[in-house]
Amino acid sequence: MHGTENNFLLSSTSTSCNICKINCFDLLKWVTMFTKLCVAATSKISHAFILKDTISHSAVMSKFEIPDRLVGNEKSVWVEYTQLVLKYKPLNLGQGFPDFHAPENVIKALAATTTSDNPLLNQYTRGFGHPRLVNVIAKLFSRLLNRTLDPNNEILITSGAYEALFSTLQGHTNPGDEWIIIEPFFDCYEPMIKVAGGVPRFIPLKPKNINGPLSSADWVFDKQELESLFNEKTKGIILNTPNNPIGKVFSLDELQFISDLAKKWNVLVVSDEVYEWLVYEPAKHIRIATLPGMYERTITIGSAGKTFSITGWKIGWAYGPANLLYNLQVVHQNTVYTCPTPLQEAVAIAFEQELERFDSPDCYFVSLARDLKPKRDFMAKFLSDVGMIPTIPEGGFFMIANWTKLKDKVQLEEETDEYRDYRFTKWMAKNVGVLGIPPSTFYSPEHKYIGEDNVRYCFIKKDENLEKAAELLKKWKSTQ
Ligand code: PMP
Ligand code: GLN
Repeated sequence: MHGTENNFLLSSTSTSCNICKINCFDLLKWVTMFTKLCVAATSKISHAFILKDTISHSAVMSKFEIPDRLVGNEKSVWVEYTQLVLKYKPLNLGQGFPDFHAPENVIKALAATTTSDNPLLNQYTRGFGHPRLVNVIAKLFSRLLNRTLDPNNEILITSGAYEALFSTLQGHTNPGDEWIIIEPFFDCYEPMIKVAGGVPRFIPLKPKNINGPLSSADWVFDKQELESLFNEKTKGIILNTPNNPIGKVFSLDELQFISDLAKKWNVLVVSDEVYEWLVYEPAKHIRIATLPGMYERTITIGSAGKTFSITGWKIGWAYGPANLLYNLQVVHQNTVYTCPTPLQEAVAIAFEQELERFDSPDCYFVSLARDLKPKRDFMAKFLSDVGMIPTIPEGGFFMIANWTKLKDKVQLEEETDEYRDYRFTKWMAKNVGVLGIPPSTFYSPEHKYIGEDNVRYCFIKKDENLEKAAELLKKWKSTQ
């Protein structure tokens, strides 16, 4: 097209015009030159525009980079390891959830709720907790704490224990407030404190004796070290008993020591007790809120996910004195506002049913731990058989095991992660087909070395899957 136009221009202007008597060839030269100048100018302008655009684009986009208070929180072991599961399809002993059906009565309660004659059971309910659920939770914990809980002011229903932790830490942290965390700790505590403007201070549990068979009771904190962390800026301490990932059930002596410090320094105790029913005899779960003078400074957190093997329902709670719970309500009412009504109704029904058979061996609060104990023992055996050194948990459904005797059987150099346990777990998922969680994720940077020699496996799984894991590990061990 352009060629034709140009040819036409040239041929029609190469002679003098009869009308204006101007040499059209000269005119053409002027026009061509003018056009070239225009094109050059335009291209410079557009180039400048592109440059300017690039600069302003990055300037514009930098406005949307992650805000300062979230920097450092980008990595999540759950996100990363769920991706690994999808990609390599190993036997998943990583994230903590049962691979078997939830109790039939609980599932039926939900089905009945959603199809009930009452249309309101599928609509919003009271923001701080569905009345039927807060009533039954108050009844249960009044009995366990031996004090009367006010369902409306001393209990908050949350979107899983996660939100109970979040509302507690947002609602009770001023910039610069210090929170003491006992390591290893459920990984969200640290980012939640930092986002609220607080400062985490860490104290690790360390194994007393690393040569023989270990129990989670052998993992202890140094009392002097804990005492030295308390100061005027301390807002609280987070306790997790039974602990994830070790399974430690804190003893009365340890809880008493923590309580005395909490009272001495006038600080809060946030007690994450999501595994409260998963305790293996002879260990006993002690609620720190029941110790003298502790209810008034303790916020206790629980999870229906763990209590009824329904982790996907994401219903949790916090209970404690009304003045402390008030701060959580303020956060909750402006973030989540209310949790799903049918799920709360069904959890309420499930609690009512367990309360009716509370002292019977069929009560799910005791039958689940009874069913899990042989799974725990089976896992401890097959891990020992392949040469790992497990720590036998007193509670929860995780087991950590030291894998370092097997280091010659894994090619850690094939993985690029900074921490050995990340390399070990990834290599095992890809080459042996068994996935565990790297425990260093549950430590602050200065103490990650304590977790690195271990792997965390979850044993709330079908027997056939635990047997499969045992076989895969045995096969791997027998190959050179
Ligand atoms: N705390 C601990 C110690 C946990 O292991 C978990 C994981 N389930 C949570 C809190 C969060 O529980 P939920 O799934 O109810 O949010
Ligand atoms: N609490 C579970 C665990 O420790 C799951 C945590 C999560 O998926 N964020 O495995």
